[in-house]
Amino acid sequence: MTIDIQFDQDHVWHPYTSTLDPLPCYPVTRADGVHLTLEDGRRLIDGMSSWWSAIHGYNHPRLNQAAAAQMERMSHVMFGGITHKPAVELCRKLVAMTPEPLQKVFLADSGSVSVEVALKMALQYWAAKGERRAKFLTLRHGYHGDTFAAMSVTDPENSMHSLYKGFLPEHLFADSPEGGFSDPWDPADFDDFRLMFVANRHQLAAVILEPIVQGAGGMRFYHPEFLRQVRALCDEHGVLLICDEIATGFGRTGKLFACEHADISPDILCLGKALTGGYLTLAATLTSKHVADTVCSGEAGCFMHGPTFMGNPLACAVANASLDLINEGHWQGQVAAIEAQLAERLPPLAALPVVKSVRWLGAIGVVETHEPVNVAEIQRAFVEQGVWIRPFGRLVYIMPPYIIAPAQLDQVVRAMAFGLRQTPA
Ligand SMILES: *Cc1c(COP(=O)(O)O)cnc(C)c1O
Repeated sequence: MTIDIQFDQDHVWHPYTSTLDPLPCYPVTRADGVHLTLEDGRRLIDGMSSWWSAIHGYNHPRLNQAAAAQMERMSHVMFGGITHKPAVELCRKLVAMTPEPLQKVFLADSGSVSVEVALKMALQYWAAKGERRAKFLTLRHGYHGDTFAAMSVTDPENSMHSLYKGFLPEHLFADSPEGGFSDPWDPADFDDFRLMFVANRHQLAAVILEPIVQGAGGMRFYHPEFLRQVRALCDEHGVLLICDEIATGFGRTGKLFACEHADISPDILCLGKALTGGYLTLAATLTSKHVADTVCSGEAGCFMHGPTFMGNPLACAVANASLDLINEGHWQGQVAAIEAQLAERLPPLAALPVVKSVRWLGAIGVVETHEPVNVAEIQRAFVEQGVWIRPFGRLVYIMPPYIIAPAQLDQVVRAMAFGLRQTPA
């Protein structure tokens, strides 16, 4: 029983791929711990956690057990008018883990949907207050998802806003900070944001941004002071702050949530990706009692959203098991160890001619090249070295499962060096 690669190429769409020139995909038959097993039996160390999600590693006994036990009872029931223990327990955990003001949880089915939900909450909040506010201020190089509203606040160039002009709402993009996470804070880094905010403050429904780490829009790490100043400005003018922690949540940056680096709380928080430890698609949008109650005091009398698979019990059960693992706290030592190893092993890569810069934070390592890399070619080199890394553009980056062992992480960094050395300058 082999995977029909030809059928895949002829009929199956993969993320951001062309039907005219589909690149071949690597057939994976199983995944255990930090390893992906290819159909030919080769085992690759996973540097991507399947896009930030498989933080505890694959085929985890506790997550398996949670899924199997829940499946015996019920995989899904509608959430309209019905509730169940997996969802209630999950929301209890999320309320307990997140900053104190966040008390109301909306379970969504993917990260993009949780962003749509956050934006709709902000719009309904202002409508209920009798103000027409429909503009969002965000940062360049951001990424918030692929659905329309999420895309409208994602970096205009990265998400090709021009393609959808006339259909996509036009929001406001401030320069994202130039200074890195641990560079000295340069107050000028906040100037563009402040100017745009103040000029548009009466139209702004909310600011939406990824705290500290901008993910798919550029893998940039910025200074916590920027986030503190955003919070202060929002407070001063009563504008809502939406933090998208879909990528950064659950320990990835070295704090449970990236907002903690700046010691702030958003009014609305989006979570996803690692929520189920990478098992199933599930996301959540949390907000304060004040925002939720204001939303529901408006003309509609409720929050206007309700996906078919909302609160899916199977996904909630696995998320509960994943959050139990998080709450046991091993992630802290694991992420700190990964960070220390990246701090030691990444800087030498900066000497390679193709490399522009390297950076790391928590369990995230980034090598930025001068020119976009040839993904198919460099990926072949990584696979040859027994490692799975999927670069995009000028970014060769890793965010491995937290359980990766030092020798395995060494192999991942060596494979990065190997692939980059083979890349023509
Ligand atoms: C991945 C991501 C999303 C979108 O989540 P999906 O589950 O792919 O819809 C939104 N925001 C951020 C910061 C992300 O990293």
